[in-house]
Amino acid sequence: MSLLNNIRVVLVNPLYGGNVGSICRVMANTGLKQLALVTPSNLNLQEARMLACNAWSIFEQHREFATLAEAVADCGLVAGTSVRPGLYRAHARSPREWAPTLLEAARKAPVALVFGREDNGLSNEDLTLCTHFIRIPSTPEYSSLNLAQAAMICCYEIYLASNEFVPGAEKSPEAPAELRERMFAMWEETLLAVGFMEREKALHMMLGIRRIFARGLLTVDDVKILMGMARQMRWKIDRLAEHAPDAFPDGTE
Ligand code: SAH
Repeated sequence: MSLLNNIRVVLVNPLYGGNVGSICRVMANTGLKQLALVTPSNLNLQEARMLACNAWSIFEQHREFATLAEAVADCGLVAGTSVRPGLYRAHARSPREWAPTLLEAARKAPVALVFGREDNGLSNEDLTLCTHFIRIPSTPEYSSLNLAQAAMICCYEIYLASNEFVPGAEKSPEAPAELRERMFAMWEETLLAVGFMEREKALHMMLGIRRIFARGLLTVDDVKILMGMARQMRWKIDRLAEHAPDAFPDGTE
């Protein structure tokens, strides 16, 4: 089972349906499933649904609690997000710093990621229930983020640290030297045929061309494309040379 299933997003008294809907979408984007709402206001559900888009099922499965203490009762680590954690300021770390700790804790017990209401944030009483504090770095001039955007940054860091995202890998293997050499031989022949270089300068020029291709990984598929280009050019040159042999002094032989 994914550790992400054991991380619960807890929203304390959210005011705006739009933010709650956006957070459902954030959760779906980042693999989180458990949403808990602590005494939500009279949420505008139309707005919530609109912003949740295809993540409405997360809202449908949410649980409601009368107090934060109840929402996190079964949790081990409780991470409170706050822009001004007061007394706890010294312990606050960025989402990136805390993400591995949260995931590690999620192995043993549910973990809560707690967000405060749009206007007042988390109260001191709420913060006393937290074992860890997350502060998203931001400017002193305007340090408070929009609730859903704060949630996105935290959930994204947790998702990234979980290593569940597997970037698409190159499928074609690296071209072996033998294939590369055949490709360079074809290009050399073709470049000579079009008069791009003289035979005495070919070695030098081919070193330059080799250097360009050595800068990045050259896959079997890449080499096949380059061979196809050289082959087609060579074929065309041979056809043209039949009509105007003088135009291709180094052409077909
Ligand atoms: N005006 C409130 C901020 C509320 S923003 C205050 O000054 O406390 C709503 C919620 O978004 C916050 O309770 C917190 O959960 C989250 N949030 C916003 N900015 C944040 C930041 N820089 N770091 C951590 N959490 C943040």
